[in-house]
Amino acid sequence: MGFLEKIYSKSPVPLQTMMLNAKAIELYVERYGKKFWDMAEQFEKNQWRSSGDLKEWQTDQLKRLIREAYNHVPFYHQIFKENRLTPDDIKSLDDISKIPVLTKDVIKQNYSKMISTKLPRWKLRHGHTSGTTGSPLDLVYDIETCVAHHAADWRQKNWAGLTYGTAFASIQGRVVVPVKQKKPPFWRKNHINNQLFLSSFHLTNENIPRYFDELKRNNIQFLEGYPSTVSILALWLNKNGMTFPLKAVLTSSETLFGSQREIIEKSFCCKIFDFYGMAERAVFASECEQHIGHHLNEDYGITEFLDDRNEPVDPGHLGHIVATSLYNQAMPLIRYKTNDSCSLKAIKCRCGRTFALMDDVATKNESIVSLPDGRLISPSVLTHPFKPMVNIIESQIIQDTIEELTVKIVKNERYSQEDERMLLAAFKQRLGEIRITIEYCEVIPRTKNGKFKWVVSSIAPQFNEKSLSIPKNIKDSL
Ligand SMILES: [Zn+2]
Repeated sequence: MGFLEKIYSKSPVPLQTMMLNAKAIELYVERYGKKFWDMAEQFEKNQWRSSGDLKEWQTDQLKRLIREAYNHVPFYHQIFKENRLTPDDIKSLDDISKIPVLTKDVIKQNYSKMISTKLPRWKLRHGHTSGTTGSPLDLVYDIETCVAHHAADWRQKNWAGLTYGTAFASIQGRVVVPVKQKKPPFWRKNHINNQLFLSSFHLTNENIPRYFDELKRNNIQFLEGYPSTVSILALWLNKNGMTFPLKAVLTSSETLFGSQREIIEKSFCCKIFDFYGMAERAVFASECEQHIGHHLNEDYGITEFLDDRNEPVDPGHLGHIVATSLYNQAMPLIRYKTNDSCSLKAIKCRCGRTFALMDDVATKNESIVSLPDGRLISPSVLTHPFKPMVNIIESQIIQDTIEELTVKIVKNERYSQEDERMLLAAFKQRLGEIRITIEYCEVIPRTKNGKFKWVVSSIAPQFNEKSLSIPKNIKDSL
C-alpha cells in the first residue's frame, strides 16, 4: 500500500470522499481537457471511415510512431540497426512484419532503453500490468496515450448508451472502502464524473440489499465492473426472485463467460457491453449494440493474431494477440506479444462500423487448459459441465501438470455423490483421458486486486496446426 493509500484508508468518510474528488479533479483536467474532447471527436469519426481511409490513417500514425521510436528510443534504434531497417522501410501496414515481435522478457531486459529520451520525465505517466503471471511489468505512457485510452473508453460507453455526465456505478478492483469496515457506506461518490464507486470487498448476503438501495437512491442506470463481481449481484437478485432493471452493464478485465452473461442480462434486464483492454494500452476491443463480437479499435492500435512461429493465423483460428500502440511515444510497444489469445472473425458487423471483429472471448494464456493429446481447451468450454450443477456455489480449475486437472468446489448442503459423478462424466466427455481430482473447500480466494481467476493453468499453451481450433466433437457438445 502506498503512502497516500495508507492515509486514505485511515481517513473518515467525508475526508475520503474529498480525497477521491481531489484526485478526480486532477485526472479530469488531464484526461478530460480540450485534448480529450478533440480526440473523442476524432474517434467518433474514425469508426465510420471507409476501410481504405482508415488504413491510410493508421499507416500515417504508424509511420509517425516508428520515426519517433527510431530517433528517440535507444532499444528501437538498436533493433532497427540489427535488422538493417530504417523508418523508410515501413511504408504500409504490412511492413510492420519486418519488425521482430517483442516479448515481455525482452522489455524487462531492456527496460531503461525502452523509454524515449525525448520527453521530459515530469511529462511521463506510470502504470503497470497486474502481474498475474510472474512479476508485474512497469509501463510508461505519454499524456496522448492516456487521452486516447479515455477517448476509446468513452466511445465504448457511448455504444452502450452512456453519455458523459450521466450517473453510473463502478464495481472494480480499487479498495474504495477499507476492507475491515463492517457497516455501510460501502461506496463513495465521485461527484466530478457523477460516478458511484462500489466496494468489491463487502459483498455479503446482508450487505448486498444496501448496495441496491444506494444504486436506486442515485438513480443509477449503468453499471460497470468485473464479470465475476457483477455476477455476484446478479446471482443475489436471481436467488431472491428479483430483478434490478438497468440500461446497460459494461464488463471488462476478466473473461466474460456465457453463463455469466446470461445471469447478468436476466437480472439487470439489459444487454452487456463487454470490452477488452490492457494496461499496456496497445489494444482495445469493444462490443457494439449488435453483440456479435468485439470490434478492434483500429484507431487505437494495430492488432495481429499470430501462431507460435509469429506467422498470421487465418480468421476463426486462435492465435497470440500481438499489439502495437499507435500513440505511446514514451515507451513504444511495437508488435508486443501479449499473454492473451483470441481469433479474428471473418464477418463484417451489421452496425456499419469499419473496425474488424474479433471473437467474443479473449483468453488469458494461463486460462487455457492443455491436454496430453495436444488439444487446447478454452475456459468457456469448461463452463458447460457446470451448467446443470445447481448444488455448486463456486468452483475453480487448476492445472499444474499436463496429466491432471484439479477442480476446487464450494458445495452447498444438498450436494451429493451423484453430483460428483455427473460432473466427472461431463468433464470426461469433453476432455477425454486426463485425470481429474475434485477438491472440496470452504472458500476460493481472489487475487489481491479482487479479480477472480476461474481457470489457472501453469502449462504454456502450444499453438500449432494440431491445436489451433476446437475439435468437432467438442463443438457439437456446446
Ligand atoms: Zn458492430
